Amino acid sequence: MTNLTDLTLSQTLKGLENKEFSSVDVTTAYLKNMEDKRRLNAYITETPEIALDMAKASDERRAKGIAGKMEGAPIAIKDMFCTKGIRTTAASRILSNFVPQFESTTTQKLWDAGAVCLGKTNTDEFAMGSSTITSYFGVTKNPHDETRVPGGSSGGSASAVAANMCVAATGTETGGSIRHPASFCQISGFKPTYGRCSRYGVIAYASSLDQPGVLARSVEDCARMIEVMMGHDERDATSSRREVPDLVSGLDKNIKGMKIGIPKEYTELVPENWEKALQFLKDEGAELVDVQMPHTEEAGMVYYVISQGEATTNLARYDGVRYGVREEGKTLDEMYMNTRMAGFGQEVRNRMILGTFFTSAKGYHDYFVPAQKMRSLIKQDFDKAFEKVDVLFSPAVPIKPFTIEEAKNGAAKGRFNDNYLMPSCLTGVPAGCANNGLQVIGRMWDDATVLKVLDVVEMMK
Ligand code: GLN
Repeated sequence: MTNLTDLTLSQTLKGLENKEFSSVDVTTAYLKNMEDKRRLNAYITETPEIALDMAKASDERRAKGIAGKMEGAPIAIKDMFCTKGIRTTAASRILSNFVPQFESTTTQKLWDAGAVCLGKTNTDEFAMGSSTITSYFGVTKNPHDETRVPGGSSGGSASAVAANMCVAATGTETGGSIRHPASFCQISGFKPTYGRCSRYGVIAYASSLDQPGVLARSVEDCARMIEVMMGHDERDATSSRREVPDLVSGLDKNIKGMKIGIPKEYTELVPENWEKALQFLKDEGAELVDVQMPHTEEAGMVYYVISQGEATTNLARYDGVRYGVREEGKTLDEMYMNTRMAGFGQEVRNRMILGTFFTSAKGYHDYFVPAQKMRSLIKQDFDKAFEKVDVLFSPAVPIKPFTIEEAKNGAAKGRFNDNYLMPSCLTGVPAGCANNGLQVIGRMWDDATVLKVLDVVEMMK
């Protein structure tokens, strides 16, 4: 019998449907792998009992002929999504004892579709980082080379998918945090258009940028899972009322006649498979068009000013009164200070201090407003490009995973780390990464075309 944990999500669902194995079988196999590979530190919290209960319930539903779109599939959840009754930490000491009383909308949709919860995965603290080194629970390792980081911030999810410790996982992006670790761990990742997936119950980092998304072994798997997570939610004021597109049936492997833009600014540094990929797309019948995105270089700065400004506001709620850990003090102010000093790690504190400055009277005028203006110019780059082309194509992260040591010494601050990822977060357009490290970005709401092209990109051998 094939190893159940080697199967893709599509293959797993098919096998379950054909009664080749049960959800309990496949869940048990994943739980065993999770135990064997604990040294990777991909999970912060494992939930084996819950997983087996959910798997049994799924098998019973199937026996009665009821099957949701994710029926019986064992998945992992980034520890930024609130899960009712299951500790949710954002990889921070300040939330290390937080057990939510409610469920995030996107995870609820996954459970309603029959998915099984294996546990909560590691991330950079409050999703701030690109390597999981800022996690209070320690760094996650890259399964392809354990001396290296998995990327981040959704590094625990990426490592878990790549090491067959779950069939797929949720992630979140604020500035590339799904595509970055997907690229470092050689798996697929997708971030939908801002507003497609509800942010309700997702621990807030920077609200105008945060988006839930998925990491899986193939683009087809990403399409399957994200389709379930999308949809309007009245509890998120920025959630779109648009109908959820049929993403899986749109994967027709046909890109003939499609116009694919190659942004000059995204090809300054390219991986080894780049030229081959361009030829492959031409052979598949696409027309490659050179485009220019002149404000790409500024995206990093804009991202940091805006995200830190929003983060300082969002993280003000952790004051030792209502949530998580409290450190006592002689006065109320002292209690706040002690709690926040002991509860947050250095990176998060740095970002909040800068964010407070960027949103102060002077900082707002000198930094925050100019950043918002630049954000509009970046948006215009995309609008202009999409007048000429259907999608944009580029490498996701053109560099190889750095070692844990290099990451600790600031390697993630390097210029090519997330330059090609941040502009699409600032503008909210859909973007994804195939399991060969190549990226496709699309028009607002055109998630279907991004996935369709990525699915073809993944055919390249
Ligand atoms: N790497 C970026 C950062 O350090 C992006 C993080 C994210 O998308 N959550 O903030």
